[in-house]
Amino acid sequence: MMNNPNNIFRRKVKITGRLVFDTAFHIGSGREGELATDMGVLLEPDGRPILPGSTLKGNFRSFAERLSGYLGLTACLLDCSLSGVKCVGDESYRNSKGVYDKFKEIKEERKKLDWLENNTCDVCKLFGSPLQASRIFFSDGELLDWGRGLQVRDGVCIDRDTETARHGAKYDFEVVPKGAEFKISIEIENPEDHELALVGAALAEWENGFRLGGFTSRGLGKVSLTSKKVEETDYSNSEQLKNYLLYREMSNADSLFNDCLEQVLNGGNHA
Ligand SMILES: [Zn+2]
Repeated sequence: MMNNPNNIFRRKVKITGRLVFDTAFHIGSGREGELATDMGVLLEPDGRPILPGSTLKGNFRSFAERLSGYLGLTACLLDCSLSGVKCVGDESYRNSKGVYDKFKEIKEERKKLDWLENNTCDVCKLFGSPLQASRIFFSDGELLDWGRGLQVRDGVCIDRDTETARHGAKYDFEVVPKGAEFKISIEIENPEDHELALVGAALAEWENGFRLGGFTSRGLGKVSLTSKKVEETDYSNSEQLKNYLLYREMSNADSLFNDCLEQVLNGGNHA
């Protein structure tokens, strides 16, 4: 199956919802914390916690990778030797035996797209690779509510070899207290039905509850997606196009993901 050039809009799907944390969470800033702890969390200049879209995308992508096989789709896991799936998303494959050189030599745009189609796994086709832009976009979380103050937790450095606590080696880290709520939105450009099935499966995991950020083995970062709303615009439908371009209105598509999932799980073929 050949993709039309991706720069032409055919269809846009938008998901909105709320992420509600059942526990405290830690999305690290990579620096010391505000409260003089060893590890701080990401904060706005005014002290409100940040939920970066890149963190959300990374988590969502890993669910898509883990679910892809059940839907008959390929995932290179960015490591062809591990997954056995040849894909330009993996740097070692891209650089092997002049694979990239071969791609660069192709002059015709259509042939380039053909080549990419045959050398990119289903997950990279949607989430992007160094040779292809992503078609799924995650906004930063918009903070709706939170406990208005950070908490400090203590940790003990564990010796990886003996799995015992290293004598006297302690650290502390900050967490955003439980109950934080963020509004999120995800947009997908020109999705194929099998890609919508994959997104639908990952969304189901998010709705069932998942873990986000650091120290999840200590019970942190438990969160779930609620109040999910799905909308779409089909550009070939003149009514929908008009509503979208003139009034910024998309059409309700709440059953879209389940319809696509059902089709794939009941043996539909995406090729
Ligand atoms: Zn890939």
